[in-house]
Amino acid sequence: MRGVQDSGRLLASKKQSVLLFVISLWLLSASLLSAFHRERLPAIFFKFQFRNVEYSSGRNKTFLCYVIETQGKESTTSRGYLEDEHAASHAEIAFFNTILPKCESSLRYNITWYVSSSPCVTCAERISETLRKNKNLRLTIMVGRLFMWEEPEMQAALKKMKSAGCKLRIMKPQDFEYVWQNFVEQEEGEEAKAFVPWEDIQENFQYYEEKLAEILQ
Ligand SMILES: [Zn+2]
Repeated sequence: MRGVQDSGRLLASKKQSVLLFVISLWLLSASLLSAFHRERLPAIFFKFQFRNVEYSSGRNKTFLCYVIETQGKESTTSRGYLEDEHAASHAEIAFFNTILPKCESSLRYNITWYVSSSPCVTCAERISETLRKNKNLRLTIMVGRLFMWEEPEMQAALKKMKSAGCKLRIMKPQDFEYVWQNFVEQEEGEEAKAFVPWEDIQENFQYYEEKLAEILQ
């Protein structure tokens, strides 16, 4: 009798753990889905990652907001954002792997990226290569900060991007405001909050703009 009870209890606890396992799988997939398919950037990420500080320690993640204008019989515009996929690939590469294949070679595209910082050498090479191969793409990259710009290798990669036709620009205060209004989550049921520029936003923009002009001259 005892044995029967015990095995009954054992069976119940087994059922329970299977159920728990299924629930946790479901929760995990739901959170993964929301991480990859969220349309707008959480405000806290924007405030930290996009800030155009001179020294960007700790800001090691790249957020890439994009606007794609398709020129055809009817022009269309689509928007979205990408982030680094858990160090597997940078946001720039994620764009080429996931968004670019949806573009048709017979149509012309004006693509604008708003990125927290300029690309690393590997991504810059990939950008140059992609623009050379896809003449129907025009790419403008607006960056909050320049990444590793003192490195000669990085400077050479940025120059190469320019000669491949990529327009590289430093984000002005108005560009940060544009990202805030178009790509950042606003709290539900509330009126959109106005963009609050940080203290040194203009100064830092000028600093990076000067550096970029020196590199690309
Ligand atoms: Zn990169």
